Amino acid sequence: MNPSNPTPQNEKNREGSAKADSAPRPNFIRAIIAEDLKQNKNNGRVMTRFPPEPNGYLHIGHAKSVCLNFSLARENNGLCNLRFDDTNPSKEDVEYVESIKEDVRWLGFDWEDRLYFASDYFDKLYEYAVRLIKKGKAYVCDLSTEEIRQYRGTLTEPGKDSPYRKRGIEENLDLFTRMRAGEFEDGSRVLRAKIDMASPDLIMRDPALYRIRKASHHRTGDVWCIYPMYDFTHCLSDSIEGITHSVCTLEFENNRRLYDWVLDELEVYHPQQIEFARLNLSYTVMSKRKLLELVEDGLVTGWDDPRMPTLCGLRRRGCTPESIRNFCERIGVARSDNVVDIALLEFSVREDLNEHAPRVMGVLRPLKVVIENYPEDQTDEFDFPYHPENPSMGSRKVPFSREIYIEQDDFREDPPKKYFRLAPGREVRLRYAYYVTCKEVIRDEKTGEVVELRCTYDPETRGGWSKDGRKVRGTLHWVSAAHAVKAEVRLYGRLFTEENPLDAKLGSDFKAYLNPDSLETLTACLVEPSLREAALGSRYQFERLGYFCVDSVDSSKESLVFNRTATLRDTWARVQRAQKKK
Ligand code: ATP
Ligand code: MG
Repeated sequence: MNPSNPTPQNEKNREGSAKADSAPRPNFIRAIIAEDLKQNKNNGRVMTRFPPEPNGYLHIGHAKSVCLNFSLARENNGLCNLRFDDTNPSKEDVEYVESIKEDVRWLGFDWEDRLYFASDYFDKLYEYAVRLIKKGKAYVCDLSTEEIRQYRGTLTEPGKDSPYRKRGIEENLDLFTRMRAGEFEDGSRVLRAKIDMASPDLIMRDPALYRIRKASHHRTGDVWCIYPMYDFTHCLSDSIEGITHSVCTLEFENNRRLYDWVLDELEVYHPQQIEFARLNLSYTVMSKRKLLELVEDGLVTGWDDPRMPTLCGLRRRGCTPESIRNFCERIGVARSDNVVDIALLEFSVREDLNEHAPRVMGVLRPLKVVIENYPEDQTDEFDFPYHPENPSMGSRKVPFSREIYIEQDDFREDPPKKYFRLAPGREVRLRYAYYVTCKEVIRDEKTGEVVELRCTYDPETRGGWSKDGRKVRGTLHWVSAAHAVKAEVRLYGRLFTEENPLDAKLGSDFKAYLNPDSLETLTACLVEPSLREAALGSRYQFERLGYFCVDSVDSSKESLVFNRTATLRDTWARVQRAQKKK
């Protein structure tokens, strides 16, 4: 293993295919499929799909659906397709298609040669629409969008039939052909299903199947000027692909009746739809439309801002694909809506990085320490392991010299109770190196601020332990001043200050609850020299501080930039909180 770049190599093997990271947990969908297999339903075939609309980047909620669909297939010797439900030409873009493919692959799933687009089915869908017209089950309606809304009625009042509902089949066929030929303006006509304007289900009140939209489509260009509606497209795409278990989120429960109607009227293969609760995560928002708003308003730096709940944001932040898969498995699959604490995601990230991230040292807010009895022209070189519990991760050389930097936080002139770090007269361990004792504190004459510590070291404690058995309570991380590399470090906090920024009680503007302290940039950090060659995106544990990853966008050999992925659980902060409570 190349010691300067241990993480990415390590990861390749782990990311190759998303093997079940932990044993699959029972859930109601797994139970349904197991039962179906027992009954030999679909001849024992299991076919699922992940069906995104390419109108934004994937977020952690989508990851739940990706993991679920691909895992269900894999566990049952089935297959899972990636299908883009691209029916809305004006909001979709190849940029989104490419990013979604990248994200699904990154999560560790493979659709092999089964990459599909609903737009591939436009000819077939058109034929299906014509078939419905010929059956007298669809008609061209000339009402405006507003009129259609008025005619639809409400939850408590039935709708009214459109005056065009009784159009004859021939006239409908002629008008639909001419809609396709581009004879009519956007919004002037739609093709509607003829179901029941008095249905208690609003969605069954003659929903639109096709609309006129003279817009270029990211794949079909200008071939079409009418586009099938999402609901019509979605159920038929599943049917065309022979999906056995059409897994979707609860908000589509109502749509199921419409899907059933379409599939039954057309007498085509009928997938089984199963709904589950979508993932909601505290302190963030999860709708593509809202995330786009943050991007467009410049409130974040982009879809991949490390504070975003998007997969590209989480990746840039340093989260691993397995931590996200484990998180998705952990939260489970159920039918009741709930909000998952973002701390659970952080836990999953820490858990994985704790096992796999190489340990290094870096100082975020440096305080100079001069070791007076250490010779000026001398340098020690230590060989430190990348992981104390995993020797196979190798080691790296870390230099030590007369001048070092420690964390400002690791020194207190007047140490409070239970503060075991450096203080005047106190001896502590420099991680893996030596014991040092603080002899003198140097201040800035004007400000009185502590700018330097004078210490002595005990040469007999090389390696960080003493033969005489004397104990020190504190162990500090450090970097050698002459050898350290400058770095910028970005500390991220939660994106919102409110647990649910969309809570109606808070008003209508979720953006008012953005956390003003969600990013703190430290520009004078110093890291150990082994990080000079760190690969973009590689992840590390900075000892005692947390997990950090080399920013894949802004970092370069000349100026390193690290993102803090997650903190470690900080014992001192916990003690402080406890003391404050008292
Ligand atoms: P958004 O509300 O963020 O715009 P969407 O549902 O419109 O999401 P789609 O591209 O249609 O986004 O989603 C693709 C698949 O991912 C769908 O099957 C959808 O049900 C699922 N999905 C979307 N959001 C979540 C979520 N928060 N939890 C679980 N699954 C989700
Ligand atoms: Mg959607």
